[in-house]
Amino acid sequence: MININENFLNLQDSYLFSTIAKKVAEFQKNNPDKKVIKLGIGDVTRPIVPAVLEAMHKAVDELGIQQSFRGYGPEQGYEFLREKIAEFDYAKRGVKIDIDEIFVSDGAKCDCGNIGDILGFENKVAITDPVYPVYLDTNVMSGRSGKYNEKTGMFENIIYMPATSKNNFVPEFPEEVPDMIYLCLPNNPTGTTLTKEQLAKWVEYARKNKSLILFDSAYEAYISEENIPHTIYEIEGAKEVAIEFRSFSKTAGFTGVRCAYTIVPKELKGYTKNGEEVSLNSLWNRRHGTKFNGVSYPVQRGAEAIYSDDGQKQIKENISYYMNNAKIIKEGLQASGFTVYGGINAPYIWLKVPSNMTSWEFFDKLLNEANVVGTPGVGFGPSGEGYFRLTAFGTKENTIEAIERIKNMK
Ligand code: PLP
Repeated sequence: MININENFLNLQDSYLFSTIAKKVAEFQKNNPDKKVIKLGIGDVTRPIVPAVLEAMHKAVDELGIQQSFRGYGPEQGYEFLREKIAEFDYAKRGVKIDIDEIFVSDGAKCDCGNIGDILGFENKVAITDPVYPVYLDTNVMSGRSGKYNEKTGMFENIIYMPATSKNNFVPEFPEEVPDMIYLCLPNNPTGTTLTKEQLAKWVEYARKNKSLILFDSAYEAYISEENIPHTIYEIEGAKEVAIEFRSFSKTAGFTGVRCAYTIVPKELKGYTKNGEEVSLNSLWNRRHGTKFNGVSYPVQRGAEAIYSDDGQKQIKENISYYMNNAKIIKEGLQASGFTVYGGINAPYIWLKVPSNMTSWEFFDKLLNEANVVGTPGVGFGPSGEGYFRLTAFGTKENTIEAIERIKNMK
């Protein structure tokens, strides 16, 4: 008889995006003449830039020629890409990362989830609330949580660190010390970032408590302000306590192409039950090499091209395009009296729902009156209740129109 992993039965249905889709479909059926503008989903819309396309085309052609054909590549990623990552994303920011600390993969989502393979199941997990749901769900799957509590909307045995307007979206250190701490900065969904000084306090906390920080910086490319660290390793001592996840998805429109990477420094240690130190880099290397067979050659060539002069210029144009949308949303909503957060170092605008409505009530109002779709904050965690996320990933024309319609709402 096949037993199942019963932890999966603890998962709550991720009804957020399916409920949104159902509500939108129903609205469109009843109002076929209305143009609905979607500013809900966190997916990019600008096409892949020419420098990347050209590199990928060339790489595909190479595969058709005997002399340049390639089969399996190194599981950790080709050196040509890892060298570029080490140089551009780290050395240029004064951080030394060796290429054997870089693991190229097909997504930060998978890496954020898979990292749990090498960590003890009894580890206590802390997540900020609200946040990207993958950290929580993957730990529920692997049994690090208790049961779901319908009343609180929280899982037992998980430490939730609220990030709301009360603390300026900067979570406080929890009373109970966690072993694994997920930090997503710039944050999805609130758009918050931490300054170097604020992040240094987390590094210090983790060092003091021998905790591990799982630092997701999928939106690093959107940072526009000074004194915001682009990598956690800009903080002294972080290599001893942090794993960093990066993705080309939002940086270069790779959500469909798929390429990301994870940094596991060699200084980073975990502990056996007997207190012996073990290198997390070697555990992740073993795990990655056993369960993953590398990102395809053309995709890695495409990712490499992001670092060329043309590539850099072109992806920055797309990021500016999105961040101009963020500005349109932020300023437009502020002018209409909304309280708005984010949108400066992240493509997400996090707004306070007016008149004490719930975030789902505001969703319905926005859909019915402005025909605009966003994401209810409570979908990202219980502390997201009363907030709402709009994304800057639409077209400029639709963004302007959506904000005009919201302004005209009663
Ligand atoms: N991390 C965060 C915070 C995200 O918001 C997302 C996507 O929305 C991801 C990771 C997923 O990245 P990838 O496309 O590389 O799997």
